[in-house]
Amino acid sequence: MLAKNYDVAIIGAGIGGLGVGAILAAKEHMKVLVVEKESFLGGRAVSFSGRGNKVVSFDKEFNPQEFKKALASTYTWIAKSEPELEAIFNKGLLDGYTFEGACHLSFWGNQGRISCLMNFLNKPIYMETNQGFAVVNPNDHTTFYQIQPGSPYPWMSKEGTKETKELLREMATMSFEAIEKLGGSLGQWLKEKNAGPEAYDFIKLLATSQMVLADPDLIPVVDYMKLPAIGKDIGMNLISGSAGAMGEPGFTDIAIKLAGLIKENGGAVLKDTPVDQVNIEGGRAKGILIRYKSAPELIEAPIVICNIPIRHIFKVLLEQHFPGDFVKEIKERYWGAGMVAALMGLKRNIFEDKKINSRSFIFVPSVIRDKRFRADVDFVIWSSSNFAHRTPAGQHTLEFVVPLVDKETHEKYKVDMVINEAWEFLRKNFPTIDEDTIFSIWTVSDEGYGNWRPVGSQRPDVKCPWVEGLYFVGDAYGRKLWGAGIDAATLSAVLCVDSITGKTYEKHIFPAYHRSSV
Ligand SMILES: Cc1cc2nc3c(=O)[nH]c(=O)nc-3n(C[C@H](O)[C@H](O)[C@H](O)COP(=O)(O)OP(=O)(O)OC[C@H]3O[C@@H](n4cnc5c(N)ncnc54)[C@H](O)[C@@H]3O)c2cc1C
Repeated sequence: MLAKNYDVAIIGAGIGGLGVGAILAAKEHMKVLVVEKESFLGGRAVSFSGRGNKVVSFDKEFNPQEFKKALASTYTWIAKSEPELEAIFNKGLLDGYTFEGACHLSFWGNQGRISCLMNFLNKPIYMETNQGFAVVNPNDHTTFYQIQPGSPYPWMSKEGTKETKELLREMATMSFEAIEKLGGSLGQWLKEKNAGPEAYDFIKLLATSQMVLADPDLIPVVDYMKLPAIGKDIGMNLISGSAGAMGEPGFTDIAIKLAGLIKENGGAVLKDTPVDQVNIEGGRAKGILIRYKSAPELIEAPIVICNIPIRHIFKVLLEQHFPGDFVKEIKERYWGAGMVAALMGLKRNIFEDKKINSRSFIFVPSVIRDKRFRADVDFVIWSSSNFAHRTPAGQHTLEFVVPLVDKETHEKYKVDMVINEAWEFLRKNFPTIDEDTIFSIWTVSDEGYGNWRPVGSQRPDVKCPWVEGLYFVGDAYGRKLWGAGIDAATLSAVLCVDSITGKTYEKHIFPAYHRSSV
């Protein structure tokens, strides 16, 4: 029997919603309800494991149609697959694979914010990180260079290498206080520094691939610059390796463990249960209206936390409770990070052909230089199965991420151009790639790395200033939040707890370099 009263009602079982729920249930002993509209947990950080001719996420089996529906809930759709998705499933080609429906890698692996939170909650997770990166010469797209500490960048002129390294050093040694004074976009910063074309292109390549935001002019400088700046404190960088993948069951493990903790502490986590509306009376949140087993139910709670990605909040919040400017800004000026991504199953490790570290990222700059795109299109390629257990014995994954802007993901000819260029790149560099490939699935997302505010504006705070008892949590919420993806959703969860309780969990959970803005 579902209780009708809770201390806290949370809308959405993403990392943000489950993170805040787990801390409040386990540490504050609050009676927590998490309500999730989908049949799986983890939101955009969902992952799947192939089992015969199905895929599973935790306790739920998906056929091809259900899998597509699950992807759609993460703002992701399939642009192309070989063979067709139904055949991939029917032939059991995904059997033994673990893969992310949406989310691919997490910043800083076991030293990232999500690991700090899971350790604090005594529910550790484990990630394996990449090792270094290689760059493909932008002038021929066939010469691969493994980047070594202190060595020149062989595709650049001497002056270009010197200038690039100086800028990278400046970025890596900046204090948080200095970064916060910058304001504006990364593109503006590079212009102010008079970055030459070689330095600009390389820093753009690194930043846009790490942020999955296609153009430095769109990247809020604070969100990016702190990443290289914490490298020295965290003891990791791109050359040593800085992004983690999880073996089976993949990133869903985080959601499973957080939901488990909520239940162990007397809370409830409901799947397949959409929230239709937040009940607000006299400027105060009173609870939520849900559809439980298809019937409407009113749940009372003095604290309501909304984990819905920001561009979609007005599906459950009546606009009349918020100032017109706020509604307008979110509806008209917020935008999504676009991406084309690929998951390929391979019969062999093709990285060995190019004599580069199999755990490396491969950055391929400026594959498409076409004025119709917002910026030069770069590819990032890696094989997560080379650093985490994610395939059947003897098989390998190959992953691609290509940052675009959200509108471009809806222009089919651009998506087709990206996929065609990717195959051309593979065929040129790995002549047996067609025989080596077991399957390929190309996906497109128009909110791939979250929703972004216009450069220069502030994120909405976790505590709603207009409705008492209403809070927000997730990768776009928190006046003092910085960063992106899982890392941002985790910090937002802790900021939300601190705002509700008036305590300072942030200081207990994170080392200084992971904390919110000074
Ligand atoms: C294609 C793709 C690739 C990505 N790659 C990376 C990556 O490599 N690294 C990284 O760190 N991040 C990546 N991200 C981003 C990362 O997944 C998100 O930033 C993070 O998971 C967001 O968590 P969240 O809690 O903010 O929101 P979400 O995960 O979106 O959770 C919100 C939840 O609310 C639920 N919900 C919505 N409406 C309702 C309703 N009315 N009733 C009930 N429930 C509702 C949703 O179903 C969802 O479960 C990627 C995302 C995508 C889509």
